[in-house]
Formats: sequence, C-alpha cells, structure tokens
Amino acid sequence: MNENIQKYTEYCLNCPVKPCSQKGCPLNNDIPAFIKQVKEGNVEEAYKILSQTTVLGSICGRICPHLKQCEGSCVRGIKGEPVQIGEIEAYVFDEALKNEWYKRIEKTEKLAGKKVAVVGGGPAGLTCSAFLARSGSEVTIYEKYNKLGGILAHGIPEFRLEKDILEKTINSILSLGIHVEFGKELGKNISLKELEENYDAIFLGFGANIPSKMNIEGEDLEGVYGGNSLLEYGNHPNYQGKKVAVIGGGNVAMDCSRTIKRLGAEKVYVIYRRAEKQMPAEVKEIAEAKEEGIEFLFQNNIVKILGDKKVEKIECIKTELVKKEGETREVPINIENSNYEMDMDYVVMAVGSSPEKEVLEGLGLELNKWGYLAVDENHRTSNKKIFAGGDLAGDKGTVAWAARAGRDAACAIGDGLILHKL
Ligand code: SF4
Repeated sequence: MNENIQKYTEYCLNCPVKPCSQKGCPLNNDIPAFIKQVKEGNVEEAYKILSQTTVLGSICGRICPHLKQCEGSCVRGIKGEPVQIGEIEAYVFDEALKNEWYKRIEKTEKLAGKKVAVVGGGPAGLTCSAFLARSGSEVTIYEKYNKLGGILAHGIPEFRLEKDILEKTINSILSLGIHVEFGKELGKNISLKELEENYDAIFLGFGANIPSKMNIEGEDLEGVYGGNSLLEYGNHPNYQGKKVAVIGGGNVAMDCSRTIKRLGAEKVYVIYRRAEKQMPAEVKEIAEAKEEGIEFLFQNNIVKILGDKKVEKIECIKTELVKKEGETREVPINIENSNYEMDMDYVVMAVGSSPEKEVLEGLGLELNKWGYLAVDENHRTSNKKIFAGGDLAGDKGTVAWAARAGRDAACAIGDGLILHKL
C-alpha cells in the first residue's frame, strides 16, 4: 500500500459518532469503518463497506468538494488538517477496479422479472441503475449521447477526472447486466408514454444543461459562451494571446478558467461578486487555479459586455458585502460610481444551469414553484410509476448528492415494486 494512504488511515480517530459520515457525506458512506479496514490491510473489505452506499468511489474520491462535505466535518480538522478521506476512498475504489472486486459484490433476486427504465446516464442515473440491478431488476438506460457519464464525461476536464477512471467505473456498473440504448432523448425519439407502457417503473435522471444567463447588456454578442456548454461540447475558440473573463464562483468557473488557460489564453480572469471565502468552488480547485496563473477579481460584478459585433470590453462594478436581515450570509451590493472597463476578447458565463424548460413541461408531470420536477421525499413524481433525481428535480448540485438521489430512488422503486404499489 502507498505510504501516504497508510499514514492517512493511521491519523483517523475512528470516532464512534461518525460526523464525517453522518453530517458530512451526502451518501452517508461509513467512513470510519472503511478507513479502519484499510488501516488493517483489508482493502477489499473496505470496498465492500463502501459499496453498500456508493458505486462512484473512484470519482467522488477525486472530485467531491471534500472540505465542504466529509472532510469539513472531520474531528481532526478542528485543530489541524482533516483526514484525507477522499484520497483513501479513491485508493480503495481504484484497487477494486484494478482487481475487479466489483464482480464479487453480492446480488439478490428481489426484483427479478421487474423492468426499470432509467433516462440519463449521469451520476444519478448510473447509481440508480446499479442499485436496482444489484436487486435483480432488468435495467435499461436511455442516454442521449453515444457515451455514458453525463456531467462526468462532458463537464469535468481530464485534469480533474481521468477518462480512464470514468470508463472503468462505468464498465464496473454495466457489468451488473445493465442494458444501454444510446442516442435516445426524451421528448425527441422516445416518449414517457412509450416507457410507461414497457416498464414497471421509470427513473428520470437527465441533468441540467442549459446555461443560465445574467440578462445583462451585450450577452448576445459573439464571443460570449455558456460555461457548461463550453465544457460539454468542447468547441472552444482560439484563445492564443486572448483575454478571457469567466463569470462565477463555482467549480464550473474553475474548470472553465483552468481549461481556457491551458488552451493558451494570455489572461484569464475569474470575476466573482462575493468574497473568496464565499466561493462555492472547492478550496483546492481555487488554489490550483491560482497556481496556474488565473487572476481572481473578488467582490467585482460584470454589468455590461461591450462591442460592435463581438466582445471588445466588459464593464464591471465593485461590490461590498452587507449583512441583511433574514439572509444567512452577507449580500453583495454594487458600490455606486465604482464602474470600470477592461479590454476583453471572450466572456464565459459560469453562473449555473437549468434543465430544458420545454422538455420538463412536455413531460406532463407536476413542476414545483422553481420550475423543477416536483418530487416527494422518495423522489417520486406526480405519477406514481415515475421517479426523478439530480438537477432536474432541483437537488443539490454535486455529484455525491446526485448519486444519493439515484440511490434513494432505487430503494423507493424497489420497495414499491416488491409491495406492488407502483
Ligand atoms: Fe476519522 Fe475524521 Fe471521521 Fe473521526 S471524523 S472517524 S477522525 S475521518
């Protein structure tokens, strides 16, 4: 075993109340228990423990915002560095992929003869499919692209998640006997009605891929891109010698800025209207972006994009953070007359994304007041046979939370099928 991994496991206190698992980990992975097994050299046993709650360990171990999740709740972090939980998890799952331990995970026949359709092969869909297939259900994934992974395949750059790891993870899930129909998009070449006729239950797990807009002047100029689309389709312009402004403070903003810098941009600015400590991006990603030469303009907001046909300049304004009644965190307020202009060649909007409105509305399912699919605590939609999770149900936007939605839905679907309630 790698020396560092051994050291990390010895640093864990094996806390009986498990704050890392219970408070920190969206999947409630039994962190002290799996770390103890690794420490004692039983890595396959550690994998078995983790497998009860996750099938994406190699991925979550690499890309989760650990300091905001498990490591952020680690007791060791109170006075010093937290245990490197992510690295230990990735190590265990990488070993499982290498040694094909996933082939030895126990399956049951509880759902034998039951057919479930899963729409979307991202983290929610893959996790839901895996847990259903482990219970003996016949699962078919309908995926609009010609490869699985969703955001993992199209939205996360290679320097954060190696394609090889993703491919092996997907293969380990498909080895459970899951069938995949590629090139199938709901509302285009398959309908919900068709699926309802052919399956006992349906899980909708396609994500959100329409980049949100800020609705500012100049947003329609040539040279303005949506961050998600840029990462998803990879059709970047030539950045050589160019100046690029990336607007936003999440991991998409970090991934875009680092990708663009690596593609040769002369200057890449991340413009974020709040303070650094309020950035939703993982601390590690921010530090790495800084090391790579990305410039951060905290407490600055873009107000206009200027140019004739294409982007030539941007106008920004400085902000101050103000405590407002009823708000849990300080709110950025524009400082009057602090506007200034910067020469710019491209602007990338990384301010969030949402599911395709027409697609959601066309499903004939109830929507909630925010425009997402309305689901109950079991991820069931207004149609008792149809479940949904991840971005389209407005779940928290990290991979681990999407996986949690997929796993919970699989559990609810399983219970519903066994009890003949669907
Ligand atoms: Fe180990 Fe930290 Fe979890 Fe305690 S909180 S069991 S030290 S990882």
